[in-house]
Amino acid sequence: MSLNAESTAFRSALEVIRAVEPRVADAIGAELADQRESLKLIASENYASPATLLTMGNWFSDKYAEGTVGRRFYAGCQNVDTVEALAAEHAKELFGASHAYVQPHSGIDANLVAFWAILADRVESPALKKAQVRQVNDLTEADWFALRRELGNQRMLGMSLDAGGHLTHGFRPNISGKMFDQRSYGTDPATGLIDYDRVAEAAREFTPLILVAGYSAYPRKVNFRIMREIADSVGATFMVDMAHFAGLVAGKVFTGDFDPVPHAHIVTTTTHKSLRGPRGGMVLCGPELADQVDRGCPMVLGGPLPHVMAAKAVALAEARRPDFADYAQRIVDNAQALAEGLLRRGTTLVTGGTDNHLVLLDVSSYGLTGRQAEQALLDSGIVTNRNAVPQDRNGAWYTSGIRIGTPALTTRGLGTAEMDVTAELIHTVLSQTTPGANADGTPSKAKYVLDPATADKISKQATDLLATFPLYPTITLT
Ligand SMILES: *Cc1c(COP(=O)(O)O)cnc(C)c1O
Repeated sequence: MSLNAESTAFRSALEVIRAVEPRVADAIGAELADQRESLKLIASENYASPATLLTMGNWFSDKYAEGTVGRRFYAGCQNVDTVEALAAEHAKELFGASHAYVQPHSGIDANLVAFWAILADRVESPALKKAQVRQVNDLTEADWFALRRELGNQRMLGMSLDAGGHLTHGFRPNISGKMFDQRSYGTDPATGLIDYDRVAEAAREFTPLILVAGYSAYPRKVNFRIMREIADSVGATFMVDMAHFAGLVAGKVFTGDFDPVPHAHIVTTTTHKSLRGPRGGMVLCGPELADQVDRGCPMVLGGPLPHVMAAKAVALAEARRPDFADYAQRIVDNAQALAEGLLRRGTTLVTGGTDNHLVLLDVSSYGLTGRQAEQALLDSGIVTNRNAVPQDRNGAWYTSGIRIGTPALTTRGLGTAEMDVTAELIHTVLSQTTPGANADGTPSKAKYVLDPATADKISKQATDLLATFPLYPTITLT
């Protein structure tokens, strides 16, 4: 590949787009410039490779391919079959799973497919026997009515939102909260860690159909072997949503008890977070649930996105290379260096540190809400997001926390020395920011005061820090 093949590809693409709608071409160019300039610490974001990005922009997007490999509801799917089978093969090899379903369009979709598969599996055999039909699609309305009555409440036990769980794990603003009667397990107030005895106790009391592990904002490893034992003890299906940490599983940083794949009945993930692929989702499972999972489209999902499945195959091929394991280890080394840098400067961290890719700051020690801290950091060129901390006194909107993660900056090449500088920048902004007041003089949870000169100075230091680590170094658009 010639050195500037990537530049040429993107420049030509923009030229073609510009001829139709120049404002879109400009926005694409501006997005690259913005991403290059910002110190991106959003724990769920990353930078996919040029090969992965380029794979999404082509005629695979034009194809309808409902069904599965070799069993499509549309003609002419032979090339879609090739890329879907490749993506699934790479996923199975990478994660050591016996079955991979690569059609989900996002993490939420992957979870819906999993929920459906578990429910269908639970009801199918008894129901089919009773109704004397062969498969779940043959059940009549009356069968379904009887089934829902028989099954009673569908119970799900998952991690509470303020301890780092995800909306899709049975919470009200998401459909999972309507489908399931939910109860959650939190973390120990003293240590911030999952207390497995408490999880076991909750499981015994609640007897869930599904026990869910996985998180968006828990800075520690989860022992999936223990969680599986708990699920087994109450006859629950054990599901792990590894959307955030799939890259650490792929890179073999999480092994043994901390690798969900050998322990869970079913594993869901996104492909665009620490795994560094295209935006999308995936389900991994054993042979028991494979048939139900493969009914994801059209049961739960719209037609698959062949261009994205192709990009998943490319990104998963990248993740199978030895340098991805090195990348995954550096993500964790960087998160730990960032945590240590913050602790040394007096910042309060939930659980006192991290053993994954993310760090959760409790900014109430700076006298700020998460919302104030997030905006002050953004003014200073540091992109983070506010996040609830366990037992958050400021609720889910203002919050008391800031979540930061290292997958993106690690992709850019920043290392532990740069993480210490980053900790210094964050600490400086937070310690120089003070809460603002409303017009009537009462304290505001959103307004804040930060000297613009300080914000400017930090912003410049952040830009300097990034200058040595260009984003997409092979790509120049002009
Ligand atoms: C990000 C995330 C999701 C949702 O992923 P989308 O692709 O945005 O739908 C689901 N579960 C967990 C744990 C996540 O962190």
